[in-house]
Amino acid sequence: MFKKLFHNIVLAVVLSISVTVHAQKINEPRTTAEWTATYQPFRIVGNLYYVGTYDLACYLITTTKGNILINTGLAASESQIIGNIENLGFKFSDTKILLTTQAHYDHMGAMAGIKQSTGAQMMVDEKDAEVLTSGGNSDYELGQYGISFKPVKPDRLLHDGDTIRLGGMQLVMLHHPGHTKGSCSFLFTVKDDQRSYKVLIANMPTIVTDKKFTEITAYPEIAGDYAYTFKAMKNIKFDLWLASHASQFKLHDKRKPGDAYNPAAFIDQPGYDAALSDLQKKYDEKVKKDAQ
Ligand SMILES: [Zn+2]
Repeated sequence: MFKKLFHNIVLAVVLSISVTVHAQKINEPRTTAEWTATYQPFRIVGNLYYVGTYDLACYLITTTKGNILINTGLAASESQIIGNIENLGFKFSDTKILLTTQAHYDHMGAMAGIKQSTGAQMMVDEKDAEVLTSGGNSDYELGQYGISFKPVKPDRLLHDGDTIRLGGMQLVMLHHPGHTKGSCSFLFTVKDDQRSYKVLIANMPTIVTDKKFTEITAYPEIAGDYAYTFKAMKNIKFDLWLASHASQFKLHDKRKPGDAYNPAAFIDQPGYDAALSDLQKKYDEKVKKDAQ
């Protein structure tokens, strides 16, 4: 009996070591030149700034009580984001709140590092909390690649309609599931010396999986979640729209590096409507194909 107990303890120790070693191996499934290329940071509107890479959009909202950072790009984007924040004249160490539009490695890669060096509070849609904690390993689709970003422990779980407050800023989180279980958008008002603008940072509901929705046992609500999100996103009222990827809101058509401050470049309801109806069409076609 003691021998057996000893054997089990040894086995448990060996297992836990191999799990730990495995847990530290981070595998970003793919990257693109657009994702990793640098981009000059700029003031979008009022106290909202673009601090991401060429395509991986990261947003900084500055306040008198510290700053909010939304999304981080890949693990290797960390130094670019820090450089962008400092180049705009802000202190990286003033980062107080961290948010993400979705728990995928191309928006979460540098989150753990940034959280550790700034001590900022990570707030996440509650439905993405598990994927955040597992470093992507429990994602219904990308989980097949194992751990794709350094795990992050959330400090606050957000629910649809919750408000994130800092230094007079109020951001409303909108639950837009499907792409991930806890994908979300942020809606808030910013002012400059001319007027105020309602800004939407949208997580566009693109489809990640090639499998039939009905075959995704790790996310049985996926088809219904997408349908909910399309409906919810069609009814949002805003002045400016931005998204998780620069390509999704056509940043590089709307603005060239070095352009003067021009928030009006991002007034684009027709572009938003067209992008959404294109994705809705893809979803409808998939649902039809799934049924065949
Ligand atoms: Zn994604």
